[in-house]
Amino acid sequence: MIVGGGLEGVSAARSLAARGVTVTVLERATVGSGGTGKSSGIVRCHYGVPSLAAMAWKSLTVFENAPEELGDVGFRRTGYVVGVGERNAAALRANLAMHRGLGIEAHEIGHDDVKELWPTARTDDFAAFGYEPRGGYGDAYSTAQAFTAAARRDGAVIRQGTPVVAIEAPAGRVTGVRVADGSFVPAGTVVLAAGPWSPALAAPLGVELPIRAMREQIMLIDPGEDLGDVPVLSDLVALQYVRAETGGKLLFGNSDLSAPEWADPDSYRNRAEESFMERTAARLEHRFPGLIHAGFTGGYAGCYDVTPDFNPIIGTTGVEGLVVAAGFSGHGFKIAPAVGELVADLVVAGDSLDPFVPASDFRLSRFVEECPLTSLHPYEGAGEMR
Ligand SMILES: Cc1cc2nc3c(=O)[nH]c(=O)nc-3n(C[C@H](O)[C@H](O)[C@H](O)COP(=O)(O)OP(=O)(O)OC[C@H]3O[C@@H](n4cnc5c(N)ncnc54)[C@H](O)[C@@H]3O)c2cc1C
Repeated sequence: MIVGGGLEGVSAARSLAARGVTVTVLERATVGSGGTGKSSGIVRCHYGVPSLAAMAWKSLTVFENAPEELGDVGFRRTGYVVGVGERNAAALRANLAMHRGLGIEAHEIGHDDVKELWPTARTDDFAAFGYEPRGGYGDAYSTAQAFTAAARRDGAVIRQGTPVVAIEAPAGRVTGVRVADGSFVPAGTVVLAAGPWSPALAAPLGVELPIRAMREQIMLIDPGEDLGDVPVLSDLVALQYVRAETGGKLLFGNSDLSAPEWADPDSYRNRAEESFMERTAARLEHRFPGLIHAGFTGGYAGCYDVTPDFNPIIGTTGVEGLVVAAGFSGHGFKIAPAVGELVADLVVAGDSLDPFVPASDFRLSRFVEECPLTSLHPYEGAGEMR
């Protein structure tokens, strides 16, 4: 049984059902209605944690093969560029070397190459760039619907409009869940994948999940001219990310997570604020000074489910039969297919079956052990991102 029909829950359902496991997903509203529906969907393997880079690499083939296997999930292969300033150039090169060691197609490119890919971008304050030709962006909502359909084809049951009010585990062993209509749904294993709502369901069992909801704003911009097929840009100097959006627009997100705005995931301001627009306008002006006709066309906000090390919790707990897959900290889209596989490994085999993805990296106990999962080559000023 899986609690939560977000992208991670339905990815786990797809992987489990494909292995012949009987699965039911209980979703309080509709599939993809949580953080998934707000995702920017950026696809890159550029991580400083090898297991996460390996998960993103493994997931990439699922996005690429989606048209044949899942239907159109909105994946667009635009390429991915990450640019850093002088203080982070050595770390970037070390990360790229690590990526290539994992078989990932990633290499350094120069200022001239970036000028060709992104003619309107100012590049003089970057010192080095990484490039992934197979990167791009997808649509998390469509991906969740496609995973749901695939799971159903393999026999999974998806119950929407079914809020779980309690996970029951008398004597330290999961027996099932209680839903809002008072009925009890028995299950020997419960995968808790309820994003920022997970801690409240785990706490009564004595399982403390250090996950908090953090509000993030997104701006949509009409660049005022046809930019063509620009790649995704992670700008680790101005701390923003930019990708193409349908209709010739651009989507701008913030990469400066140094002053988190903690929020209630059930009641947060969805509209972008004036101060954020002003900040985005200044960054836009800095990075794309030539886009003189650019203007905002919209904005919205979503919530990341953030852990203290900005990496997910995927693992068993002190309660027998309770597996957690939550706390994706704003980067759970690109790794979602591999998350499903890891959860299925944990449920079926008790451990990861992928040597590049050690389950221990994502264990809950790392927080009390004070062993956070951190980048091997962190970026100064943008450490939380990778
Ligand atoms: C603004 C924004 C931008 C992002 N951009 C990117 C990006 O560019 N690249 C990237 O890789 N990732 C990105 N992410 C992160 C990624 O989208 C998320 O990590 C991922 O979608 C989270 O999926 P989830 O299933 O863990 O959580 P959710 O989608 O939040 O799903 C949890 C589900 O649990 C359900 N639920 C809650 N309580 C209960 C209950 N009691 N009973 C039953 N169901 C319950 C909710 O209704 C919800 O559907 C972004 C996220 C946001 C918010």
